[in-house]
Amino acid sequence: MSSQSPERKRFYQVWPGKNKFYCGGRLVFGPDASSLLLTICMIGGPAITFCIRMAFLIRRRHPLFHSQILIGAILLTFMDFTFLFLTSSRDPGIIPRNKEVPESEIPDVITQSTEWVSNKLGNVKLPRTRDVLVNGFTVKVKFCDTCLLYRPPRAFHCSICNNCVQRFDHHCPWVGQCIALRNYPFFVCFLSCSTLLCIYVFVFSWISMLKVHGDFYVVLADDLILGVLGLYCFVSVWFVGGLSVFHFYLICTNQTTCENFRYHYDKKENPYRKGILENFKELFFAKIPPPLINFRDWALEEEDDVEVGSITSKLGRNLGPQNTKMSSGKLGVR
Ligand SMILES: [Zn+2]
Ligand SMILES: [Zn+2]
Repeated sequence: MSSQSPERKRFYQVWPGKNKFYCGGRLVFGPDASSLLLTICMIGGPAITFCIRMAFLIRRRHPLFHSQILIGAILLTFMDFTFLFLTSSRDPGIIPRNKEVPESEIPDVITQSTEWVSNKLGNVKLPRTRDVLVNGFTVKVKFCDTCLLYRPPRAFHCSICNNCVQRFDHHCPWVGQCIALRNYPFFVCFLSCSTLLCIYVFVFSWISMLKVHGDFYVVLADDLILGVLGLYCFVSVWFVGGLSVFHFYLICTNQTTCENFRYHYDKKENPYRKGILENFKELFFAKIPPPLINFRDWALEEEDDVEVGSITSKLGRNLGPQNTKMSSGKLGVR
């Protein structure tokens, strides 16, 4: 088997979504991954400036105090960037698309329905939505015209990435990636770490400055850099802190951002709610499921199949149990 022949392509090279792949398909970024650079500068710039300033102050005054602050700042910045990388570079839970509507999806009996899927399907007639039972609740799932499948509950088609994604939360422009089933815990850790870093730099900038006696202008003139950093962090913490609080509220109530805006689960029964402790356990301690697609696998060599929108029928062997349930019409819910 000539698996190394140059004309053979891997799935990530023929994937019809808009993702960007690096390291031979091992790293999966969103199409707007370049916005990550801005996020890195906005976090790294102030953090590095703060660390340099603390290193400088170690020699000038209070060596032990400032060296401890420096170590704390380096650790927080390192953790923040690690969570940012884990959020933005992994497959968020992309669902393999179908080349054509699976026969198992076509209903035997055509019932009355107000809306039918007609796009791309030729003569096949499918209802736009269908009902699925989740924890005793009936949930409507929609047919995706692009991916040619009924989305599993909580999945959504991200128009920026052009993929259906499992337990879709939102597409984050700051991270340049969908926030969904497989990277949501890292995203929450990234937000929390960013909030902590803001508070840390704000508090210790002012403590360092207040060690110089005098009125406000004397303090500010003595260390303008720390003054600007303190102000920057004060403004930023409202944004990242607000987002952290919002996401902790979503975790407590087991909702995604998408569900919160669309279905207002805080005003009606939420089929996924399990109690605050269980909701947190599910998010932070449950094993993150493996990706449904192995982007490094070889695409088959059927000439006219290696084209946009036509590869997923070949992905069958890479599908996890969720997709098997999905295409047989029995939608699996985690
Ligand atoms: Zn889709
Ligand atoms: Zn997306």
